[in-house]
Amino acid sequence: MTLYLDAAASDGVDQDVIDAMVPFLTQAYANPSSVHTDGKTAAQALAAARGSIAQDLGAKPTEVIFTSGGTESDNAAIKGIALAEVRRSLLLRSSAHGSDSQPSDETAPRRILISAVEHPAVSESAQWLHDFFGFDVVRIPVDAQAHIDLTRLQEEAAKGATLACIMMANNEVGTIEPVKQAIAICHSHGVPVHVDAVQAVGTIPVDFHNFDADTLAASGHKFGAPKGLGILCARSRVALEPLMSGGGQERGIRSGTPNVAGAVGLAVALHEACERMHDTLPALESSRDALIRAVLDAVPFAQLTGDPHARLPGHASFVFPGINAEALLVDLDTRGIEVSSGSACAIGRSEAPSTLLAMGFTETEAKSALRMSFREPLSPADITLIAQGLRSSLAELHIAA
Ligand code: PLP
Repeated sequence: MTLYLDAAASDGVDQDVIDAMVPFLTQAYANPSSVHTDGKTAAQALAAARGSIAQDLGAKPTEVIFTSGGTESDNAAIKGIALAEVRRSLLLRSSAHGSDSQPSDETAPRRILISAVEHPAVSESAQWLHDFFGFDVVRIPVDAQAHIDLTRLQEEAAKGATLACIMMANNEVGTIEPVKQAIAICHSHGVPVHVDAVQAVGTIPVDFHNFDADTLAASGHKFGAPKGLGILCARSRVALEPLMSGGGQERGIRSGTPNVAGAVGLAVALHEACERMHDTLPALESSRDALIRAVLDAVPFAQLTGDPHARLPGHASFVFPGINAEALLVDLDTRGIEVSSGSACAIGRSEAPSTLLAMGFTETEAKSALRMSFREPLSPADITLIAQGLRSSLAELHIAA
């Protein structure tokens, strides 16, 4: 039997999600932009999926844009907002040129504020804007539990910025960020905010309007939909330059024939995840806390990473100082326990998880990080198996726990 503890990287698709998708692959497969009857059937299914997702995320249907995943949603929001600002400044400059007056300084400074623990889909998008358009990327530090420093955010937002990016929950250490407060701070200085909610959506309550976020990214394969399906929520008040040129689908922000079956699957998976959340949240949290206690008891030199309380309900992460996490991960795998070292995106690279470095861990400590993540509560037997597996793996690696 395998214990899959890598849900934060990806998870399985429930049968009813597949069942809901199949008719839109085999029968109602028409292009939703087509005007014939089958096209209208597909368009209606797309609209219903959009409406359901909007309701589950506290957004309006017109604010929901279908994408290919969390990475695309982050890129579309961050580059889209920044490039809209570039377009605005070009227009202002050309109109000032035409009228022989001075160029206006009405544009926001080309600065992007990002928390120091953002996923590469965010940090590399900001870096791209630096490389190609000269935006300054300002990294807002975090504390030892990965909470963003709100005082620094306030200071930097006061200097003006095109955009701030603050993740809702960290993928590597599970800490839930004070997103609502951070957004209020940024807005008080006129700075729009993009929220990467990829790890949060379907796991903890997310309310786009209540947070007052300007854009928000989610990814289907984190909550029971197939891979390659994402959501971008975007308020109409923010200008977004589309990254994709084409037929103008999805409010012109994401051209390309919409994936109707995928949208239907996303909506079903999200709705089920949101409904399940209310029933399973306490059990998930208590099994997480029991797992944390069991690991710390079994391996007294291990340390929990991230906030012990304000953390994702199915997320336990540790450092095992003095140990190479990859070796531990491989040995645990031979015992049927599948975990990850830091974030899935860092696997295959020998880099230390960037979140842990930003939290003040040394490079060696960061390379000893393991993450265990799950969507269903673990049983006491699972927890015992994990704790015993860890002790056996450490013994195999000749390390006394
Ligand atoms: N943002 C965060 C916080 C993530 O954890 C991930 C994936 O793990 C992404 C963005 C990228 O999402 P996707 O895999 O759907 O491209």
